[in-house]
Amino acid sequence: MKRYDYIIAGGGLAGLSLAYYMNQSVLRNKTILIIDKEEKKTNDRTWCFWEKVGESSFDPVVFRRWNEVYFYGSNGFEEKLNLGQYTYKWIRGIDFYDYVRTELAGNPNVTFLNAAIDRLTDTSDGGFVITGDGQYIADYVFDSITPLDMENPKRHNMLQHFKGWEITTPRPAFDPTCPVMMDYRVEQGGVGVRFGYVLPVSDTRALVEYTLFSDKLLEPADYDRELHTYLRDFLKIEDFTIEDEEFGVIPMTDERPKTSKRNHVIRIGTSGGYVKASTGYAFKRTQRFTQQLVTELLTKGKPQRRQWTLRRWFKDLQDSTLLNVLLKGRYPGDEVFTRLYKKNPTPRLFAFLDEETSWWDDLRVMSTVPIGAFMRGLLDALLKRF
Ligand SMILES: Cc1cc2nc3c(=O)[nH]c(=O)nc-3n(C[C@H](O)[C@H](O)[C@H](O)COP(=O)(O)OP(=O)(O)OC[C@H]3O[C@@H](n4cnc5c(N)ncnc54)[C@H](O)[C@@H]3O)c2cc1C
Repeated sequence: MKRYDYIIAGGGLAGLSLAYYMNQSVLRNKTILIIDKEEKKTNDRTWCFWEKVGESSFDPVVFRRWNEVYFYGSNGFEEKLNLGQYTYKWIRGIDFYDYVRTELAGNPNVTFLNAAIDRLTDTSDGGFVITGDGQYIADYVFDSITPLDMENPKRHNMLQHFKGWEITTPRPAFDPTCPVMMDYRVEQGGVGVRFGYVLPVSDTRALVEYTLFSDKLLEPADYDRELHTYLRDFLKIEDFTIEDEEFGVIPMTDERPKTSKRNHVIRIGTSGGYVKASTGYAFKRTQRFTQQLVTELLTKGKPQRRQWTLRRWFKDLQDSTLLNVLLKGRYPGDEVFTRLYKKNPTPRLFAFLDEETSWWDDLRVMSTVPIGAFMRGLLDALLKRF
């Protein structure tokens, strides 16, 4: 059995981000094994996120960036939102994988293994991994492959699911200077909320997506039908060619990952609860949490357990409350989001969603939601936990 200092189980966003930050520090001298069942040679996803100017480690692979976004809300509200000090960025999965893999290729201490992990356990001797090819052990295994429990009745469990087509049109049909971040004009129905999303590459090429926050997936043909409807009714596009497509399901849950007693297996990524429960955004949080892990390894020699703080508890409760309001249909989701974007400057809302606001700004954002529905959601979310 081969021993490493660290094993990274899953070389996707979280695994590669962690390896990248390790490689930027003296941890580059540790032996690191990255195991993934896929070769990561396709553009399997699109990451978008907002970021304050000049913040990113991955700026070299940002594919498109914008300082304004369109927002189409309920009841005829529409606005081009000024993002202030923020930039909305798009990174293509394949560019990220290639970039990090190239950076790591220069380090002989990093080994990639293309294999499926069959078993991953915490033993007294370290984190232990079995693949079809062999067995490996490490002081720490960083696990981004174990799924979160989405059945816990004490938690709120929703799915963000979407289908996107990258299309080209024979005539100019998009504004390449401004994506559509949320378009709630689409017909709403069932649990949760639905919206359109447009990332322009040029005036004749864009990724157009149909997204739902809900409790269950649609039939495959339903996504296609809704995409056709969105293109025809709202973007006024009927003549187009599909160049590429993407489909994704992101857990939106306030479930916490289970921690192992021995602490040799550390959950990261979606598996580690890095996805913001109320939005499904994970890219930036993944950067923050993996950088924090590297700092802990450098300063304390081991990953630290998540500390309880009032601030942390309060932010988690805000996520649970929004999920509760959506899941229980306490208020139409499209109207909740329209109020948030209409009544707050976008930079304040972005800072709120990034969990970087002061208590005072938190209150200012919270005062813009439908208070009755959110109070009932808050109460229910609290009762569910106890
Ligand atoms: C299509 C799509 C689009 C998204 N867009 C955005 C976005 O715009 N903004 C945003 O913030 N978030 C977005 N997300 C959410 C989130 O950022 C991504 O899901 C992100 O990839 C999560 O990182 P991760 O490392 O947890 O998982 P992944 O990136 O999926 O990495 C997990 C890796 O583990 C490997 N693996 C799984 N099981 C095994 C096994 N048994 N053995 C070996 N390897 C295994 C997989 O092959 C994969 O490479 C999107 C998600 C999807 C699916």
